[in-house]
Amino acid sequence: MNELIRCARAIAGGRQREDFAFVIGDDGAISDAGDYADVRGRNSAVSTRAFPADRLIVPGFVNGHSHAYQILLRGWADDWGFDRWRKDALYRVVARLSSDDVYWVFVAAFSEMLAAGITSVAEFFYLNGSGNAHAESVLRAAQETGIRLVLARAWMDAVHAPEAFRETPDDAVARTSALRSAYPSAAICIAPHSLHAASETMLRAAVDFSRENACDLHVHVAETREDVALSMETFGKTPVLALDGVGLFTQRTVVVHAIYVTDEEKALLGRGACASFVTQ
Ligand SMILES: [Zn+2]
Repeated sequence: MNELIRCARAIAGGRQREDFAFVIGDDGAISDAGDYADVRGRNSAVSTRAFPADRLIVPGFVNGHSHAYQILLRGWADDWGFDRWRKDALYRVVARLSSDDVYWVFVAAFSEMLAAGITSVAEFFYLNGSGNAHAESVLRAAQETGIRLVLARAWMDAVHAPEAFRETPDDAVARTSALRSAYPSAAICIAPHSLHAASETMLRAAVDFSRENACDLHVHVAETREDVALSMETFGKTPVLALDGVGLFTQRTVVVHAIYVTDEEKALLGRGACASFVTQ
């Protein structure tokens, strides 16, 4: 590509800059940035594209947690409670998607994200019950639309989940390893779904896999009051304490939601036991 972008106004380094410029190198990465006069001087032969003062150039947004196929559910069943929505809307539609359907749905969803300024997405992807073909469709859609993808490949073995989502811990390990080997340049990590959708055996396997493969681990935590009630009933502990009990919170853990947590649990998570939070 090799193009110099001149911005009358830009956000860079956390502040607004005027007459700012950056250079996109042949590999698509930013190779230089700073005041226009300086950047121009260092890149005198590079062609220029300029944005006027009525445009503010900002860094790409990051979508930290996505289930992109849910665009198929827009405008339908959004007044239902979570359990009914999951069972009679989400599971009813998404579980039936073919690999080809997944490809086109993700082309549409990723294109929408890019049009909205989202350049990176962490996709928490469920449809792994019959192998990696569906996940490969997601990787292809990301490559072809140009979005930067972290594929958080879900691991689920709860009996209430549709077969299209469910796999044994051994299959999850073997298939995830195969996918990471087949796509060594892709960012593929794991996502043991949650306390209610992954068994203790699966959660422990996920902790081991994350450690042995030095890969991140995304997990839904305390998303609803029902999550907390179910955890208390099943384990006699809140979701954070139950997950902490199996060693799930490490420097490689990305905690998703964590809405119903106590001050003590916030402190536990905040002591650096996990990498980051995504709250929606
Ligand atoms: Zn989610």
